[in-house]
Amino acid sequence: MNKINYQKELDALIDTLVKEDKQPKLLLHSCCAPCSSYILEYLSQYFHITVFFYNPNIYPNEEYSRRVEEQKKFISELKVKYQIKFLEGKYDTDAFYALSKGLEAEREGGERCFKCYELRLREAAIIVKEGDYDYFTTTLSISPHKNSQKLNEIGRRLSQEYNVKYLYSDFKKKEGYKRSIELSNEYNLYRQDYCGCVFSKNERINFLKNSAQE
Ligand code: SF4
Repeated sequence: MNKINYQKELDALIDTLVKEDKQPKLLLHSCCAPCSSYILEYLSQYFHITVFFYNPNIYPNEEYSRRVEEQKKFISELKVKYQIKFLEGKYDTDAFYALSKGLEAEREGGERCFKCYELRLREAAIIVKEGDYDYFTTTLSISPHKNSQKLNEIGRRLSQEYNVKYLYSDFKKKEGYKRSIELSNEYNLYRQDYCGCVFSKNERINFLKNSAQE
């Protein structure tokens, strides 16, 4: 099946918003400050954004707290046209471990990750349904390790299920990932070297061990 260029869909929507002089309210699920950096710089020109930090996948607790604090610090330091708000979700790790059952040995990018995307996007869709927002989306597509087609498919499905609008996007396009690294350096952001869960942490540790033995 042909891949859809979701960045083009976002470009078209932004063109319309600019022409109509509209600035919708966006709930932006964020996984961490570095991934959010370019996206906030970019989208805050067009949307009133609330950053939604809902990541019960993150292990251990200290890492979770560190990423939350880094996210808040970055929001407070970034110069933007429209002020950015922050909302922290529940750190309900049981929800993450329940979905990972039987999928612990999957490598990053596999079935466990698709469920992990959905857990976080579903919570964002519920918040949008209950609150005063026009769209929801996630920072996750900026990472070269994340499957943008899958993320947008999940976004579409949830938008239909909850009758809310998903902001289709692929933030790694237009050199988004490169810009996020520049901004991370500029703002001296903490950049973790594993995705987030205990399984990805172990995968990283094993990778480093094997590389050292070669
Ligand atoms: S590797 Fe990342 S996306 Fe995959 S399950 Fe772990 S935290 Fe979630």
